[in-house]
Amino acid sequence: MTKKTIYLDHAATTPVDPQVVAAMLPYFSDIYGNASGIHKQARQSAGAISTSRQTVADILGCSPQEIIFTACGTESDNIAIRGVAWARRQAGQGHHLITSSIEHHAVGCTINQLCDKFGFEQTVVPVDKHGQVNPADIKAAIRPETSLISIMYANNEVGAVQPIAEIGEIAREHDIPFHTDAVQAAAYEPLSVNALNVDLLAISGHKIYAPKGIGILYVRQGTPLLAPYTGGSHEQKRRPGTENVPYIVAIAKSLELIDSHRNDERARLIQLRDWLIKGVLEAIPGSGLSGHPTERLPNSASFVFEGCEADGLLMHLDMLGIQAASGSSCTTGMPEPSHVLMAMGYPHELSLSALRLTLGQQTVATDIDDVLANLPQVVEKVRTLARY
Ligand code: PLP
Repeated sequence: MTKKTIYLDHAATTPVDPQVVAAMLPYFSDIYGNASGIHKQARQSAGAISTSRQTVADILGCSPQEIIFTACGTESDNIAIRGVAWARRQAGQGHHLITSSIEHHAVGCTINQLCDKFGFEQTVVPVDKHGQVNPADIKAAIRPETSLISIMYANNEVGAVQPIAEIGEIAREHDIPFHTDAVQAAAYEPLSVNALNVDLLAISGHKIYAPKGIGILYVRQGTPLLAPYTGGSHEQKRRPGTENVPYIVAIAKSLELIDSHRNDERARLIQLRDWLIKGVLEAIPGSGLSGHPTERLPNSASFVFEGCEADGLLMHLDMLGIQAASGSSCTTGMPEPSHVLMAMGYPHELSLSALRLTLGQQTVATDIDDVLANLPQVVEKVRTLARY
């Protein structure tokens, strides 16, 4: 029996890096001034925000004015999508949005609401069986009234990495703002906004070893954006509200740490991931890899198992100390098939058998050994129970 806890749910959230905790701690009780003030404490807080903004801008290859701190990935996506959709419609620049069938609900539900309640129209481009968008489909969906394209950088359920730079090139040729949800990609993939050809990019702190409750939105200078919130002049009036200084310091520090070892960590995780994938597919009959065989996040291994119900699998693994997920973290627990797997063409029943194992900074080779030693019996047990 596995004794140690093996956490393989880093796509749901990550632990906060102790170096990040150390960086943010002084800003709770020592330097706590409101950054809008003019006294010393306030200036120290404002200085910390300004340094953090510069750090993030350097990593994304943009100017600090193009960085907005938000409360989470969901808020970054909402501000980007609503902000551009409203601004462009107000300027008579269209009401048609293009997105994909595998977006996170932070994007999908936002666009659906714009269409259902505010008179926008959308084209949802399909994905192939590996969960990838074809840039040609984006090109074909463009209309004269298209005002925004939103395609995620990497999928949260199956880890498929999308051809963002190529899609961005198409968007640019047509002068259409391009938003990408980089929440899952930020810890692993290159983040240069110019190389990616993106105009808006969303990041979430808790997926990159910073706390829950902080996010980043990059907005390219000149991109029309009508802020969904009103209030003070914080974050260039795009996300008003007194700044969360400790968390802003934290997300900048975590991005800095990640960027300093991005390539080494990618290589390490890819090796562990591929060994895990190979081991599972070889040891378990009726198993299949979901998502792209190579164009996938370095930390993401996702599977389907014929005749095996995901919740049972997760509970049995949990009893062994292995913490994993099925669909996206937001839908786990609901007996509905994953919209991502359905969009990839999986039959309803197989979509209910998804297992997502997402590795992270603490994952070591013995963790993979333990999963490979236990998973085949667990799948067999859940399959046997399903027959009764
Ligand atoms: N986008 C993607 C792809 C995600 O995986 C998530 C979280 O699971 C979000 C957006 C939402 O981020 P947050 O939890 O910070 O609101």
